[in-house]
Amino acid sequence: MAVLLALCSTLAAAEEAKGKVDLESLGLSAEAIAEEAKSMKEWIVSYRRQLHQNPELMYELSSTSAIIRAALDEIGVPYKYPIAKEGLVGTIGTGQSPVVALRSDMDALPVLEPLSDDTKDFASKNPGKMHACGHDGHMSMLLGAAKLLKQKEKLIKGTVRIVFQPAEEGGAGGFMMVQEGVLSNPSVERMFGIHLWPWLKTGEIGAKAGPLLAAAGQFELKVIGKGGHAAAGIGVGVIDPIVAATAIVQQLQTVISRNLSPVEEGIVSVTMIHAGSAFNVIPDSVLVAGTIRAFHRDVYVKIEGRVKAIVESIAAAHECRVESVYTTFDDKCLEAEGLPQGFPSGCTYPPTVNDADAWSSVKSMAQGYLGKEKVHEVKGTMGGEDFAYFAEKVPSAFVLLGIGNDEKNTTAGLHSPMFKIDEEALPVGAALHVNMALGALGDLGGLASAKPEL
Ligand SMILES: [Zn+2]
Ligand SMILES: [Zn+2]
Repeated sequence: MAVLLALCSTLAAAEEAKGKVDLESLGLSAEAIAEEAKSMKEWIVSYRRQLHQNPELMYELSSTSAIIRAALDEIGVPYKYPIAKEGLVGTIGTGQSPVVALRSDMDALPVLEPLSDDTKDFASKNPGKMHACGHDGHMSMLLGAAKLLKQKEKLIKGTVRIVFQPAEEGGAGGFMMVQEGVLSNPSVERMFGIHLWPWLKTGEIGAKAGPLLAAAGQFELKVIGKGGHAAAGIGVGVIDPIVAATAIVQQLQTVISRNLSPVEEGIVSVTMIHAGSAFNVIPDSVLVAGTIRAFHRDVYVKIEGRVKAIVESIAAAHECRVESVYTTFDDKCLEAEGLPQGFPSGCTYPPTVNDADAWSSVKSMAQGYLGKEKVHEVKGTMGGEDFAYFAEKVPSAFVLLGIGNDEKNTTAGLHSPMFKIDEEALPVGAALHVNMALGALGDLGGLASAKPEL
């Protein structure tokens, strides 16, 4: 035991020499931060509701951005604006290294919000647009975190960057933010993001090391035959693209089962087929479109290669030809003139991969104050998420935060018009952001020493 104690004190001294400081030594605890966040629930919820009433899409976020800037002005956090059109980055701390970053997305979805007693007081004012993926909650949690961190700024010897990014829902806003330097000057060393998650109970969290969300891309095929009379034309010049297209759809089902190894995971889903206009006319062409997903880039590329081979060869076997468009991993597709179009127009989103150490630190910290039973190792899901563009550059943890509550009817899936947030989760998310940021700063030597300065 004595040897162990000696070893512990040696390790402690080594940590101190590296500048590592934990929250406890500063008289702070993760529990206390969670309590402080709870006490500002009303403030957080009021911003969430304001943002929910003003949903905007992709990069067209002028009202959203204005609300966030007003909140940052209110709490005295300086920020840089605009970045990636309507994105912005707040700074808390010295502006110097070490830098950790917290990220929220800002955009809503083209979904018509149904009337509901639960949300009628703050329903969308923009018909056909709705925060149906919880990004209103994400923004309010990050504002809450910024408010708490600003109150503790004297403890911060480095910097917390507060990142609000546009166009998560298919516009590669994360990529654009990276292009515009959000991760540099000085470089971000750890990054964290939270997504509200109706499939976990309110206030519980989950994530995993490695790929959490998938690489996501799409394909669109025009299978071209030769239209004509559905009876008289057969055998005398008509080439039926419907038979070819349906054969392609059937054969694509073999890619996952026959071309991936049992330990590889991926999806090919055909989600659209459009053809024909009359019962007695063979159409000239058939439109077929769908999505490819995988947790690893190389698996995605393998699936896509098989899809292309099957499409070409089956079409040829039926005397058809194909005009096809596939999204690509090539970042050049995002560097075209103007703002990037991203997925689904051109680019494949990379997988969102959690750094094992970053998630492990968050997990043990969260278990400490939330309780082990509320912190879950989850399986990856095949949804796409452009936090991936940050996580590719910086060791990161992307964490799912539960909002599922049967009594409050908040278990509808993301992107559903029925999607609702249990707002009890919002202060939990704000505290988690703060604890993740301060925990990482502590590890990186970015917290003030508990010892009085001499
Ligand atoms: Zn979404
Ligand atoms: Zn989302």
